[in-house]
Amino acid sequence: MKYKILTWGCQMNIHDSETIAGILQNMGYSPADTLKEADVIILNTCCVRENAERKVYGRIAQLKQFKLRNPNLILAVSGCMVQQPHVVEYISEKLPYVDILFGIKNVHKLPELIENARQAEFPVVEVMESSEIKENLPIERMDNSRAWVTITYGCNNFCSYCIVPYVRGREKSRLPEDIISEVEALAKEGFIEINLLGQNVNSYGKDLEKPVAFHELLRRVNDVEGIKRIRFLTSHPKDLSDELILTMKECEKVCEHIHLPVQAGSNRILSKMNRKYTREHYINLIKKLREAIPNIAISTDIIVGFPGETEEDFLDTLNLVKEVEFDLAYTFMYSKRKGTPAAEMPDQIDDDVKKDRLNRLMQVQDAITAKKNMELKGTVQEVLVEGISRGKIKKLSGRTRTNKVVNFDGGRDLIGKLVNVEITEPHTWSLLGRII
Ligand code: SF4
Repeated sequence: MKYKILTWGCQMNIHDSETIAGILQNMGYSPADTLKEADVIILNTCCVRENAERKVYGRIAQLKQFKLRNPNLILAVSGCMVQQPHVVEYISEKLPYVDILFGIKNVHKLPELIENARQAEFPVVEVMESSEIKENLPIERMDNSRAWVTITYGCNNFCSYCIVPYVRGREKSRLPEDIISEVEALAKEGFIEINLLGQNVNSYGKDLEKPVAFHELLRRVNDVEGIKRIRFLTSHPKDLSDELILTMKECEKVCEHIHLPVQAGSNRILSKMNRKYTREHYINLIKKLREAIPNIAISTDIIVGFPGETEEDFLDTLNLVKEVEFDLAYTFMYSKRKGTPAAEMPDQIDDDVKKDRLNRLMQVQDAITAKKNMELKGTVQEVLVEGISRGKIKKLSGRTRTNKVVNFDGGRDLIGKLVNVEITEPHTWSLLGRII
């Protein structure tokens, strides 16, 4: 029996798919190369953007042909989309050949759900709200050297544009001892890079019976023997503490990179977004980070065209980008999410204006990214080799400690290893190098 998982969305979702795969493998399923040969197909969905939702509906419709050819095929939909009642209703009515709809917190029930679906004539729905964290679920990791470890689930921040707190529930931290034993086990298995995951890792541990700060957890992960690199995602600027900056500086395994979403450069828009920090606070954080860790790379997320954003507000964002000089920015046009306060705000911005602002922003940022990469020419960087590059000319591909992609020639035996690479040809999106 074989399975195939299709995943949309963020790293959290990709990691959830590793757990789904682990559970299926425990049940005796093995991965299928193609959809055609799968006995179970799971779509692990995202609802952060409206078009992601539309893509999933399109994909489910395409999969009907497989159901018609093989009535025993189990088709399941999971992830953030399923946490919304209107989606469950829509799929049950319009796409009734879906066998199972299960929520993020119901993954551990998958064996039972598959069993029930084999007998049932209607979709089996299991979307339960539970704040309990299930430990020790099997995880089928997709990488042999880099591992993702969830430290918090959910989010308490309610940024006014974001659907995540509604679908993933309130913030809940894992116990530090559970996290450390997972990291120790990963180190024993030979993993060398740990990526700590949470919607807002900076507020880790505040909800625990015995509160533990994120920087304290980071120090404990840093002490695990065998681990060589530590990253974390995502940081919220309102919770980034001085202690964390000091910990990043002092812990040699913590990589010189931080992803710190700014979202906007105008205080008026930041307040409407309910981000709970100002432009000045953000710029001050960048200053402190760069003072403590001079070679740190900083990436960010920016939304343009938030309701009510004027040209002046947008110019504030553009000026912040020029002032901070991010290594990389993930830029988005604001997209309405039903059920969030921003969707109801007046002065929604026209798509043409959003597109124009996005293009202007990308032009500025691309030039900064290219300039920053150019500064690396001739330097030697430690690279963790991840695999083969995607381009036509096949090279090895990996990341520097500052999270920059480097492509270079070398043997497949280097995949999963740390190597030193001299940067010979920097480009905007990647660096070319030669192994030394
Ligand atoms: S911090 Fe804000 S943007 Fe991030 S998941 Fe929570 S509500 Fe969404």
